[in-house]
Amino acid sequence: MTAILKNFIGGEWVDGSGVTKNINPSNTNDLVGEYAKADKAQTEKAIAAAKAAFPSWAQSTPQVRFDALNKISLEILARKEELGRLLAREEGKTLPEGIGEVARAGQIFAFFAGEALRLIGEKGASVRPGLDVEITREPVGVVGMITPWNFPIAIPAWKIAPALCYGNTVVFKPAELVPGSGHALAEIITRSGIPAGVFNLVVGSGSVVGQTLLDHPDVAAISFTGSVQTGRKIAQACVLSNPMKKFQLEMGGKNPLVVLDDADLKTAVEVAVNGAYFSTGQRCTASSRLIVTEGIHDRFVAAVAERLNSLSVDDALKAGVHIGPVVDQSQLDQDLRYIKIGQDEGAKLAFGGELLKRENPGHYLQPALFTEANNNMRIAREEIFGPVAAVIRAKNYEEALAISNDTEFGLASGICTSSLKYASHYKRNSESGMVMVNLPTAGVDYHVPFGGRKGSSYGAREQGSYAREFYTTVKTAYTYPG
Ligand code: ADP
Repeated sequence: MTAILKNFIGGEWVDGSGVTKNINPSNTNDLVGEYAKADKAQTEKAIAAAKAAFPSWAQSTPQVRFDALNKISLEILARKEELGRLLAREEGKTLPEGIGEVARAGQIFAFFAGEALRLIGEKGASVRPGLDVEITREPVGVVGMITPWNFPIAIPAWKIAPALCYGNTVVFKPAELVPGSGHALAEIITRSGIPAGVFNLVVGSGSVVGQTLLDHPDVAAISFTGSVQTGRKIAQACVLSNPMKKFQLEMGGKNPLVVLDDADLKTAVEVAVNGAYFSTGQRCTASSRLIVTEGIHDRFVAAVAERLNSLSVDDALKAGVHIGPVVDQSQLDQDLRYIKIGQDEGAKLAFGGELLKRENPGHYLQPALFTEANNNMRIAREEIFGPVAAVIRAKNYEEALAISNDTEFGLASGICTSSLKYASHYKRNSESGMVMVNLPTAGVDYHVPFGGRKGSSYGAREQGSYAREFYTTVKTAYTYPG
């Protein structure tokens, strides 16, 4: 019997009302841990604690916030192997990917430790004689954070770190499927010296804990990453709440990678395979549409299939594994459903798509590559969120660009080319928030903005110094010295 890991509310670890089991997708016999689920009343307590802690945290000095964030960063980085193993075990990305994600979370806290010291206002002359005008930024209040399962520590980090940095208090709800990394992060935060109530962890379902955050008038803002469907509900709830809440949404993608005839084939194959299939394709920035011009099409398809054939799909914790399992049975069912849909729509399954058996029972899926797809097919329009990509043939660059932009999403996009002219044109004309040249669509820096356009994102950008747009509110003060 393992201990049930608790929620953190108002500075105390508290039992919940029910338990959520964290199962290893590489080995479904392996129970990673059991986590207490918070109910509505406990979520309300967490909100009340965050509200009570806000005035004092909002007035805390930049030095206090730097010290706390820096301490969190140092502990995360010192424990990255252990935390990376936990992450890989609960989510199914490979061990190097898990350790990389943890390191990123540590770096994000370090970045925002520095940002806490850099928040300076502006002072200017008024248009009226004798008056001063000051523009400063203040924290927003209690921020509710609702996060998905695919980046169990990096996404919480890139929401919690800026929230604390700018003087907000936090109620954090991790995804139920992967509470382990969120819980470990919470423990580290509790040791950082921040006062009780400033940070609260409530594990639980979207419909109970998430909904309570959305309904509560004392939650001033919601930062959400997850599906488009849930994102819409969150937007509606935030607008209908009284007072209205500030909100930011990071949602899906159907990210294109354009491969032109003049691309370096080896680079294009690595970029496509990494972007489409690494982390089991479970990244909102994954390239699931590979738009390839005629002259390189057949060589590219053959080389991608050959590369996929050389990859090892196995237990995320095993050395040398390239692709771990799908996160759970329901996501696996969705991936298989889309593979069937692709075949029914007339696309050709050129590689993979089969369930795989490994030493332990897990959700193993061979990466699937479709060819002869067109951009109107559901596999080219809907986010699958698994190791499934479709190659769409294009006559030339102009047609590839048009296909690339013909989507309701706009998170990331990429192009493989050796032509400066096409690379520059694509950077300027691709309708996405992040554009990559000769690089995978997934895999971004932590110190610059992250976010998209159209149906992918709503509200202020996350990460880098741009994060302050969401986590602060601007005050304009006028003084007449007399
Ligand atoms: P995914 O399954 O891809 O992570 P979801 O949008 O289903 O995407 O979930 C993202 C986060 O949103 C999770 O933490 C989930 O619990 C939460 N969530 C789901 N439904 C709701 C809801 N109705 N209200 C608030 N939060 C929700």
